[in-house]
Amino acid sequence: MHKAIVPLGCVLCLLLGAGGASAAGAHQHGVAQLTVATEGNRLELELSSPLESLVGFEHEPRNDKERKAVQAMKDSFRKPEALFAPSVAAQCSAAPAEVELPGGDSKDGHADMHAAVAFECKTPAALKDLEVKLFDSFPRLQRLKVQLVAGGKQSGTELTRQKRRLAW
Ligand SMILES: [Zn+2]
Repeated sequence: MHKAIVPLGCVLCLLLGAGGASAAGAHQHGVAQLTVATEGNRLELELSSPLESLVGFEHEPRNDKERKAVQAMKDSFRKPEALFAPSVAAQCSAAPAEVELPGGDSKDGHADMHAAVAFECKTPAALKDLEVKLFDSFPRLQRLKVQLVAGGKQSGTELTRQKRRLAW
């Protein structure tokens, strides 16, 4: 009796299939979208944010200062533990996030970045919450619209600079 192995990120695929198109249209400075999914020993996070809210501008970097700002943002996603803190008891660790940046200037002057983070947890039963520390690294970020998929249930909520902890 084999238990079917769910392809990585599949929960997110389903979610994105259901609500991805509308989420992509919701570009609002200071507001980012975060999908949080637990699956077995994995915790998967997918962030979509206006570039403005992370680096302060949305055009192609035009000078060294702007290039450095983009590089610093990308570097911060190399250490996802500094941006997202799952329950300590679950002993989760993450590989560097995959960051996707728009290439070239967009027609309407707006641009989003996407990042995907996968944590693997040694004690997934203890995985009960997530503190989002993005707000410390990115002062322009005000709100996070969160879609949470945990224990087979899906729910939506919102985090702010004051309310950073997501529990399930
Ligand atoms: Zn914008």
